[in-house]
Amino acid sequence: MKVYMDNNATTSLDKSVLQEMLPYYTDIYGNASSKFYEVGRVAEKAVLEIRERVAKQLGAKTNEIYFTSSGCEADNWAIKGVAFANKEKGNHIITSKIEHHAILSACEFLEKHGFDVTYLDVDSVGRVNPEDVLKAITDKTILVSIMTANNEIGTIEPISEIAKICKEKKIIFHTDCVQAIGHMPISVSELGADMISISAHKFHGPKGVGVLYIRNGVRIDNLIHGGGQERGKRAATENVAGMAGLCKALELANENLDEKISHMTKMRDKLIKGILDRIPYCKLNGPYDDTRLCNNVNFSFQYIEGESILMMLDMHGIAASSGSACASGSLDPSHVLLAIGLPHEIAHGSLRLSVGEDTTEEEVDYVLEVLPPIIERLRMMSPLYEEVIRSN
Ligand SMILES: *Cc1c(COP(=O)(O)O)cnc(C)c1O
Repeated sequence: MKVYMDNNATTSLDKSVLQEMLPYYTDIYGNASSKFYEVGRVAEKAVLEIRERVAKQLGAKTNEIYFTSSGCEADNWAIKGVAFANKEKGNHIITSKIEHHAILSACEFLEKHGFDVTYLDVDSVGRVNPEDVLKAITDKTILVSIMTANNEIGTIEPISEIAKICKEKKIIFHTDCVQAIGHMPISVSELGADMISISAHKFHGPKGVGVLYIRNGVRIDNLIHGGGQERGKRAATENVAGMAGLCKALELANENLDEKISHMTKMRDKLIKGILDRIPYCKLNGPYDDTRLCNNVNFSFQYIEGESILMMLDMHGIAASSGSACASGSLDPSHVLLAIGLPHEIAHGSLRLSVGEDTTEEEVDYVLEVLPPIIERLRMMSPLYEEVIRSN
């Protein structure tokens, strides 16, 4: 059996999304900025329509949608673009310790260029306290960036409250919505954010295309300089196929969203309960209520290493992820798990299982059958665990 349980890392490309993209790789190959002949105009018209459809899905205006090459680019643009465009107003940025590296590394880069960054602590389930945002604001603060939902432990942050505080203080507020799309309803007016980032491959769209929503009136510098695409704010020949794919995937993600959320929640809870029932010495990371992303499960298993669990799951055809800094391939424990207060040795033994709308009960049952003996076997090889057993 092959089971894919790493939907927080990426998702499969929906077949109808691919269908929507294909014409832009074949017949409609024109450059969307070439208006003097038909194949260019067709591409241009497609981009206009796609932008409108994406705006409608996000509750935004058409001229507030900017296509990027990824979620990482959208995040980097939001942080660096606002910082450099507003530096005469102030040099202070507020974010949290559990943001994606696209945000954290962009902030660290800005610290080398004269900006001050406050990295807010989170509580034991990964929640940012809006009061802490308020307290951190100074007369130099120009930007607050707090993610809507965390990609590792699934915490959904109190975004509307934070947005309200920023609005009152007239500070630009950005939120990384990459994990939120397809897992909760997202409308920019309801969120109250000035900027949001999304990425198509996290909701059954293609890799390599994202959107930065920028509310009209936000002052932001370009990240990619060159031609006049994206209303002069983001150069590069339009990736029309990618845009079409993102658009279709977004529409599909929002279709019957409630049903999909309830299915994913059911699969998530079956996994959580099953693991808690079957495996001793484990801890669920992140909240266990309606502020948890509907598709995310994250456990720490004492006395073992996350990587060994992944290898053994892979031998059984199960794709999952560990609590180590996944993207870098490094073995450092995750900054998110450390931020919620896990000691290094426990953070190391972490496993993330993220379900999708297509995850079945049979797949969950299979994981619940395979995982407990794997954990038991790995613990049997651990001298620490041996001591625990002996002292009991
Ligand atoms: C995946 C992810 C990103 C990066 O998106 P890419 O399109 O892969 O660059 C950013 N933020 C969060 C929360 C993510 O999960």
